Amino acid sequence: MESEEDVCAFCRIRDTDTDTEILLSDEQLLCFRDVKPGATHHYLIVPRMHIDNCKALQGTDVPLVEQMVSMGWRILEKNKVGDLDDVRMGFHIPPFCSVPHLHLHALAPASKMSFKSQLHYGPQSHWFITVDKVLSQLKTRGKVK
Ligand SMILES: [Zn+2]
Ligand SMILES: [Zn+2]
Repeated sequence: MESEEDVCAFCRIRDTDTDTEILLSDEQLLCFRDVKPGATHHYLIVPRMHIDNCKALQGTDVPLVEQMVSMGWRILEKNKVGDLDDVRMGFHIPPFCSVPHLHLHALAPASKMSFKSQLHYGPQSHWFITVDKVLSQLKTRGKVK
């Protein structure tokens, strides 16, 4: 029988069972391009460990999320994103996750995203939660609302 991890697209990328180019990696995280970019720069930062989505996070995951954010800044800087104030980082809220393996979206320049991308990755979107909100909810409540 196949386990959930066998069929998970991001677990397969982790296991280098795909052509996806890994842009950055360390013991805990991987970074690669989003296959359907919503902005000029659009990267995904994914924990190696299979976590379903942001609702599965707990207060103890704050350091992990912070590491995901720091890898997000690293890939944006590495790819010469000029304006680091014009960046959007966040998670999709289930059931609006395209892949059921936790992934942080890092997009830039945020102000030049199309209307459609704003719907998917906008701070006012019902489908998307910014990483700042996730971190503050984890710190105060120990979970994502
Ligand atoms: Zn997975
Ligand atoms: Zn997503």
